[in-house]
Amino acid sequence: MKVHIFTYGCQMNENDTEIAKQLLLNEGFEITDSEDDADVVILNTCAVRKKSEEKVYSHIGKLKKKGKKIGIMGCVAEKEKENLFKRGVSFVLGTRALAEIPKAVENAKNGSRHAYFDDTLSEIEYHKVETRSSKHHAWITIIYGCDRFCTYCIVPYTRNREKSRTLDSVLTEVRALVDKGYKEFTFLGQNVDAYGKDLGDGTSLAKLLREASKIDQVKRLWFLTSYPTDFSLEIPQAMNESEKIAKSVHLPVQHGSNKILKAMNRRYTREEYIQLIQDIRKIVPDASISSDIIVGFPGETDEDFEDTVNLVKELKFERLNLAVYSPREGTVAWKYYKDDVPYKTKVRRMSYLLNLQKLINKELNEAYKDKTVEVIVEAQAKNGLFYGRDIRNKIISFEGSNELIGKSVLVKVNKITAGPLHGTIEKVLDF
Ligand code: SAM
Ligand code: SF4
Repeated sequence: MKVHIFTYGCQMNENDTEIAKQLLLNEGFEITDSEDDADVVILNTCAVRKKSEEKVYSHIGKLKKKGKKIGIMGCVAEKEKENLFKRGVSFVLGTRALAEIPKAVENAKNGSRHAYFDDTLSEIEYHKVETRSSKHHAWITIIYGCDRFCTYCIVPYTRNREKSRTLDSVLTEVRALVDKGYKEFTFLGQNVDAYGKDLGDGTSLAKLLREASKIDQVKRLWFLTSYPTDFSLEIPQAMNESEKIAKSVHLPVQHGSNKILKAMNRRYTREEYIQLIQDIRKIVPDASISSDIIVGFPGETDEDFEDTVNLVKELKFERLNLAVYSPREGTVAWKYYKDDVPYKTKVRRMSYLLNLQKLINKELNEAYKDKTVEVIVEAQAKNGLFYGRDIRNKIISFEGSNELIGKSVLVKVNKITAGPLHGTIEKVLDF
């Protein structure tokens, strides 16, 4: 019985897919990279924006035409639940029901239809997962769910309440991975700074970073995504204590206007956010700070948008993910706020910010000119060049070879663009 899993959305979905593959292999199923070759196709889905959900429905349509048995996991599974049966799928697997995946595929094979929503996360043996997408870098989900309830966001409904894995479970996974040659790890959570709070035993993200950095073979530690009022300044302090902790914080601001931040239920003001960035930069002056921004939230006037523009100009983020507001059924914003910013205005504002960010990128990238930085080689790009990141999450491309993937190299930067930097390898480091 061959199973193919197609992954939409965030890194947490990627990690869930890796775990799902191992659970299926354990029960004797075969995993195939080819959709056409598979008896069962599982779509691991994203519901953050309407578009991401629509992509899933059109994919289901195509699979039905091919006569495939279909399983749905991820956020659309949790959002739509048994409604998905009307679209002809064989099973629906909730975001906490991952450990039931072999049973779901087995039942699909026998032609029966089931939905699975029990929380079975405690059954997962994370340290035994070998079906990773990379051989040197591993995603590690450390906290599930989100309790923040931003008014536009579907995630608290699809990923449920915050639930942390124990420190011991996460460190056991890291140790098992370093034994297999992994050296780079990204700790994941929708609100990664809330890690440990529900455990009530002093566990925190800073503690995890400190403990994991003591493991010899660990080379670099990342974490995603931070939430401003949960972010602890212990984290930049930990960055200063260990050069293994990446100097990179992804800290979405979402908006620059206090009126909109309040309507979004973001629980901080523009001034508090700016202060937080200043505090981080005081501790780690070269910290790389990236952010997410939504344009066209209900009620966003030209003045509100101007507040966002000025914030972006002032803070100069290293990277910016921009999204046009998309009303999500069931959220507070969908229920109570009119989606009143015309689509054209949303697009205009978005492209304005895109262009502004390009100029900022170019300006910030200039600081890299002729600098030599340590990069872990990640992969080969379509254009044939290899690329990797430095400790500040800066992407640098260079001529290389497959044997270098996963290795640390020193790269001298010689070409600056608004996008990736270009350089030449000066030395391959032994690690
Ligand atoms: N937890 C993180 C945070 O607090 O920002 C990010 C999680 S969310 C899945 C990823 C990004 O999607 C958010 O930062 C936000 O910018 C965007 N997003 C979420 N809901 C959205 C919506 N309804 N419309 C447009 N963008 C949205
Ligand atoms: Fe969504 Fe807000 Fe939670 Fe991020 S913090 S996942 S934007 S509710």
